[in-house]
Order: sequence, then structure tokens, then C-alpha cells
Amino acid sequence: MLFKKKEGKRPEYPIKGIRHETLDTILEASKSSYPKEFAAVLRAENKEISEILLVPGTLSGEQSAIFRLHMLPVDFTVVGTAHSHPTRNYYPSGADLNLFGRFGFIHIIAAYPYDQNSWAAWDIQGNEIELKVIE
Ligand SMILES: [Zn+2]
Repeated sequence: MLFKKKEGKRPEYPIKGIRHETLDTILEASKSSYPKEFAAVLRAENKEISEILLVPGTLSGEQSAIFRLHMLPVDFTVVGTAHSHPTRNYYPSGADLNLFGRFGFIHIIAAYPYDQNSWAAWDIQGNEIELKVIE
């Protein structure tokens, strides 16, 4: 049987937003990793993203963070990922989009200078998601 792929319809995400402390942690970690990339996986509680888990391994190069995420086993308790870019570009790269398909459904990219306006959230297809910051 053939299943037609639904196009143009955004699925509804069972996530209300991200806790502002969690976002701050991501931005701070991105800042302190600069110019290297920072990467973590996201966990949610009560439909709020409230926990990040750092990806084990050492930072050995600017391109390494995303590849270390690729090497993690798929964990279905994870709702998504967060990583930083050493540039002002918070759009997902081709490698990012491959990664997004492996983990959860919400992916945060923090770009330089890692402030409240230099990050964005994406779905697995690379569509921007409006992610609410919960105070
Ligand atoms: Zn990236």
C-alpha cells in the first residue's frame, strides 16, 4: 500500500515552549564554546523543554559537535536537539537536516552572538517553529 506524504501541513507539536533558564543555558554554553560548536539533546517535562543533556565526547574542531550528535544512539525520550553555529546564521545546514530526522521533532540553533534574538527553532524538515519562551 502506498502512503501519500502530507505536504504543506504543519503537524502540531506537544510542546508548549522552552523554559527561559533552559534557553539561557543553551545560549551561555554556545557562547563559552565559541568558536567551537556546542551540541546537546533536549528533554521535556510537562510539555515544556526544561532539560539539556550535553553530548559526551571532546570538542576537537569547529565542525565536530553536529557529528558527535550523529553518533548518538536514537533515544525516543529526546524531543530534539540544540546546537550552536560559530556564525550569525541560525538556518540549518544539510548536515543539520540529516540530523533532525534522527531525533525528536524540535531543533534549536543558536547563532553568534548567542543572545535572545540570535536563535531559532526548526522542525525535522527545516521549517521554522515558533517556540515560546516560558518565564
Ligand atoms: Zn548546524
